[in-house]
Amino acid sequence: RSLFGALDRQAPDALLGLIAQYRADPRADKIDLGVGVYRDEAGATPVMRAVKAAETVLLAEQGSKSYLGPEGDTGFVDLLAAIVFGPLAGSDRIAGVQTPGGTGALRLGADLIARARPSATVWIGDPTWPNHAPIFREAGLTLASHRFLDGAGAVDFDTMLADLAAAQAGDVLLLHGCCHNPTGVDFSADQWAAIANLCAARGLIPFIDLAYQGLGDGLEADAAATHQMLAAVPDALVAYSCDKNFGLYRERVGALWVQGANAALTTLAFSNIVALARGIWSMPPDHGAAIVRTILERPAMRAEWMGELDQMRTRINALRAALAAAHPQLAAIAGQRGMFAMLPVSTADAAVMRADHGIYMAGNGRINIAGLRLDTIPAFVAGLSPHLP
Ligand code: PLP
Repeated sequence: RSLFGALDRQAPDALLGLIAQYRADPRADKIDLGVGVYRDEAGATPVMRAVKAAETVLLAEQGSKSYLGPEGDTGFVDLLAAIVFGPLAGSDRIAGVQTPGGTGALRLGADLIARARPSATVWIGDPTWPNHAPIFREAGLTLASHRFLDGAGAVDFDTMLADLAAAQAGDVLLLHGCCHNPTGVDFSADQWAAIANLCAARGLIPFIDLAYQGLGDGLEADAAATHQMLAAVPDALVAYSCDKNFGLYRERVGALWVQGANAALTTLAFSNIVALARGIWSMPPDHGAAIVRTILERPAMRAEWMGELDQMRTRINALRAALAAAHPQLAAIAGQRGMFAMLPVSTADAAVMRADHGIYMAGNGRINIAGLRLDTIPAFVAGLSPHLP
């Protein structure tokens, strides 16, 4: 009997199918709003100038590719920590490692939770990034979901709190630190304060997924919620991705940090993180993190990166404003943040928009705002409006 005969066939990733369909579409005015990567005004996802400059330095100066260790590039982790945690960065209650992307950070954090408290339920919002559930499920953890959206593209906080009433002390609450994927709907500062109080009062452990820092309101503003949460609770985890804000996607650059109640507990958690990493990928891939470290070490390169990131954010937010102004049903998009928005469009309607107008969006109604241009918004809204409620 074959080892593999007992497996169930798995459905291919729906978004990857959409990419292939888009490529094969001969229409010149087709619009790709499916894939979740940043696009510039020309529709390209170029290597950032700061990244190119850092790669040149690495090519000339890197003297060895010998092993580093399961922690990865500690210079990268420390320089990035200053951007993520601000004044908290030096705290002996916070420790982190480099991971293969934000996905690797989430998985490593999930494995740590599964080892430390296998009975914990992980609470995720509905909807969330579709990979969240499989990551935690594959780590052996139980999942539960809570609602947080109203029908009009805003937060329904009362419903969220009502759903979370069922959470037990010691459960984990997964939170998007900024730029919620797929909805773009972030909590207000007051709502974050209420979530921080809830976690503190009920003994819930925040696990913050920060994958888009700098693409919402700016580097500092996008980390404010993370700071607020960490200040309120003893234990927390932060999964970070540099793959969007440095445009490094396939280089797989991320980090996982834990905050413990005191330095000794943080050291204990850190030793387990390192041991778990050793058993999964042994060591993270070097190149992308070396690029980020090289940029952050050099003031001129850092300034160039921050300027490029500013441009990306400015472009996204200008598109948001234009889209919101183009149709009354899209007004909420102006106040949302990050690359994505969810439209009230069914899978069937999305298929019609694809067939009739060459507009490609995910089946759940998610659009990548950066896939638009100011001059394609009218055609997009014309194709979309018959399907809006
Ligand atoms: N978390 C969220 C919310 C994301 O949207 C993504 C990527 O799409 C990730 C994590 C993972 O990022 P990475 O590509 O670095 O694994």
